[in-house]
Amino acid sequence: MRIGGERSLEAQRAAMVADQLRARGVRDERVLKAMGAVPRELFVPDGRRDQAYADEALPIEAGQTISQPYIVARMTELLAVRPGDRILEIGTGSGYQAAILAELGGRVTTIERQSDLIPQARARLEELGLADGVEFRTGDGSKGLLEGAPWPRIIVTAAAPGIPRTLREQLDPNGGRMVIPVGSRDRQDLLVVVRQGDEWIERSDGPCVFVPLIGSEGFDYDA
Ligand code: SAH
Repeated sequence: MRIGGERSLEAQRAAMVADQLRARGVRDERVLKAMGAVPRELFVPDGRRDQAYADEALPIEAGQTISQPYIVARMTELLAVRPGDRILEIGTGSGYQAAILAELGGRVTTIERQSDLIPQARARLEELGLADGVEFRTGDGSKGLLEGAPWPRIIVTAAAPGIPRTLREQLDPNGGRMVIPVGSRDRQDLLVVVRQGDEWIERSDGPCVFVPLIGSEGFDYDA
């Protein structure tokens, strides 16, 4: 039985892993373990800590969002991270997705266009002892990051109108893998793209909704 806000955050986190992730088909035990280890309450605004394990995206600063726990777990599972993998994340936001990737042993470079979000994200990762695995950049991540390319793993946590050409080119030709929501501003498909040489194999994992990727290979700011 639910005792609302009186359940400890640890108990709420364990329930989130069981009810929102495992029950809905997230299978990768390493991903489930990471989601059970990283305190999501650190990544939501102070006034919303009691909603940290709610089954939904939550607003953060600068008009942005921290994604729903399920979508973070699902994207992480689809990315198939091996310890030591170099990962490019586009859209740092709260830093929660970066923390999950670092917890899995990924070496993350994360790019955020709104520089004011970065100090907080960095401080949270430092508090968790995960900051060594994460490098922060400010800029337009729709163009990827040439320095460090080709990337074995790319995860885009904002909605793109199409797969940015530059990100395709920066994906490792030797089985590089990218997870990216592609569609309109209101509704997208979560695409998994695997590159083998000059072939890019795409499949959709189903519908999703993200805030827009704003940039030269994303949406226009005003549109
Ligand atoms: N991964 C985040 C959720 C990000 S929400 C988390 O775990 O909390 C999407 C983020 O993408 C927002 O912070 C937004 O500012 C950022 N963003 C949008 N367009 C971008 C671009 N071109 N380059 C980098 N970041 C971008």
